[in-house]
Amino acid sequence: MKHTYLIALGSNMPHPHHGRPAHVVRAALIALDLCTLPVTAAAPIMASAPVGPSRRRYANCAALIETTLCPDALLDRLHAIEASFGRNRLGQRWRARTLDLDIILWSGGIHRTRRLTIPHPAYAGRDFVLGPALRIAPHWRDPKTCLCVKHAHARLTRRARLPKAPPPHA
Ligand code: ATP
Ligand code: MG
Ligand code: MG
Repeated sequence: MKHTYLIALGSNMPHPHHGRPAHVVRAALIALDLCTLPVTAAAPIMASAPVGPSRRRYANCAALIETTLCPDALLDRLHAIEASFGRNRLGQRWRARTLDLDIILWSGGIHRTRRLTIPHPAYAGRDFVLGPALRIAPHWRDPKTCLCVKHAHARLTRRARLPKAPPPHA
């Protein structure tokens, strides 16, 4: 059976062969196709501010892929692609990395194993995921929250634009 996955791609480290992060992400889209994970839609590659301890800027993208692989088998394949781009998984989370490939949503709905949670637990709070995802899958509905990507993005950006509450005695 064919499954559709929404994948988030991110890079914040140059690669000795591919060059700067945006080029790493472009090469990763090609690598997905070459690894028989056909990309049926890809968002424009976007730049975003750093998250966590690394101060480097990110290049981010989102892609839809179609495959018969089940979620855990797909995660193995994505980890192999990350490794082929020189990603070293030892050490702290969110450190500088050449390539991060996360599974955001899956046509099969909810999936939870020890090593894999779909929908991705943090995506709804990340503009750098929802921004690109909006370009290719605005109507994809999260099976847990029932919010589609478009509404999750609107909610997040509206919250970011709200004026900060004044301090208690101002
Ligand atoms: P974050 O998941 O917050 O974006 P990260 O992508 O930097 O952080 P990684 O080091 O790439 O984190 O992944 C850590 C582990 O997260 C992976 O080994 C994987 O088993 C697990 N994981 C759980 N759910 C997912 C998911 N939906 N997509 C990718 N990895 C996941
Ligand atoms: Mg990630
Ligand atoms: Mg990851």
